[in-house]
Amino acid sequence: MDIAGSDLGALRHLPAVATVLGLADAAPLLEAHGRIATTQAIREALDQARDALRAGTASATDAASVLRTAQRLLETHQPALRPVFNLTGTVLHTNLGRALLAEAAVAAATEAMRHPVALEFDLDDGGRGERDDHLRALLCELTGAEDATVVNNNAAAVLLCLNTFALGRGAIVSRGELIEIGGAFRMPDIMTRAGAHMVEVGTTNRTHAADYQKAIDERTGLILKVHTSNYRIQGFTAEVGARDLATLASAAGIPLLNDLGSGSLVDLSAYGLAREATVREAVTEGAHLVTFSGDKLLGGPQAGFIVGSRELIAAINRNPLKRALRVDKIRLAAIEATLQLYRDPDRLAARLPTLRYLARSRDAIAAQAARLRDDVALRLGDAFRVDTGECASQVGSGALPLDTLPSACLLIRSTGSQRALDDLATAWRALPRPVIGRITEGALQLDLRCLDEADEALFVANLSAHA
Ligand SMILES: *Cc1c(COP(=O)(O)O)cnc(C)c1O
Repeated sequence: MDIAGSDLGALRHLPAVATVLGLADAAPLLEAHGRIATTQAIREALDQARDALRAGTASATDAASVLRTAQRLLETHQPALRPVFNLTGTVLHTNLGRALLAEAAVAAATEAMRHPVALEFDLDDGGRGERDDHLRALLCELTGAEDATVVNNNAAAVLLCLNTFALGRGAIVSRGELIEIGGAFRMPDIMTRAGAHMVEVGTTNRTHAADYQKAIDERTGLILKVHTSNYRIQGFTAEVGARDLATLASAAGIPLLNDLGSGSLVDLSAYGLAREATVREAVTEGAHLVTFSGDKLLGGPQAGFIVGSRELIAAINRNPLKRALRVDKIRLAAIEATLQLYRDPDRLAARLPTLRYLARSRDAIAAQAARLRDDVALRLGDAFRVDTGECASQVGSGALPLDTLPSACLLIRSTGSQRALDDLATAWRALPRPVIGRITEGALQLDLRCLDEADEALFVANLSAHA
């Protein structure tokens, strides 16, 4: 490629890193970002200037403009895990971190980070305590189970149960319940990794008690029942309920493990949602072990709970894998604070964000959409049209997969090309607080269910950061 003589000269006259660092305006950058990051950004800025000169898209570059570029580079380096606005309409969005914690849980986690805590220390006698002691009583109170333990997530809970009771043995499961949760959790794979032999019974749509009965032999480790969280088999179907399975398992002297997935601690129909079996009901039905997630309907941090008979939980606690799957003090503190809220059901919806979002009425959300429409339209200018509309939110994370919640949204359409709308969605993902919506039927849909009213001003101001 031909390089004009003047550009070659300009290349030679690019400032040295030290010159840029020596500018008075470099001092605040050094203070904010440190020497190494600032120097690195100046080098990058110089590389960009060199490329631009070679490509002929720039003529000369002075130290001040290199510093300005470096400053932009430093400031666009935003934390990867920064907060976003979840306007997808999915309340428990796995890719956006599922449940938001209650303020009490945030406070408890913060305290546990700042100070020593009696994690495995008995404050009564000054001796060694047990990590599980903090939650055991609460979990038993809330679920009616004899004993309880907690691990990293529900996948870990299932893995640990299978590994404890079906290592080198059979785990019987219905063909209708071999679920996949996201790409990474597939029941057959988890069973294999747990060292269990999967013994499939029945068919995809129908499984009978006799199918289980026939499969039980001296090598059976446990029977597994899996809540088909994220799909339903409808039509000509039959499954064996947990109550009957528990009877069958007890008669054979093996445990029934019921993996509930979401596992709510309260009856959600009290909040206008579809009914989903509670953990207490699953315990009452007689399952010897019940597993469920911390960050789905329960509304806490990521965790996996195992509740059930004292003897079985004790065996689980003796499994060396338990140590590898245990939960840290920060989450334990947040879990305890979250569970405490369930002792006061009257105020639960006000305090637990997940329940608050799920219980928000369509009318309240529609009023919010009407309030925000003009402000959003103003910030978008003539290139877009903003309307209020109706939509349907989802619970998410596989909970209540077929039930949607009537909701309201802002619908943004391009007055020009569809491309402009895609570009807008991209630009909004790059905002200081990224705005995540959904493109559907030629519009960018912002379901406002999860936009707290207290955050409305922040939401609008944040949009202004978009040039
Ligand atoms: C979600 C789910 C899991 C996995 O739970 P995590 O907490 O995400 O690990 C396992 N089983 C069922 C039935 C589920 O719905």
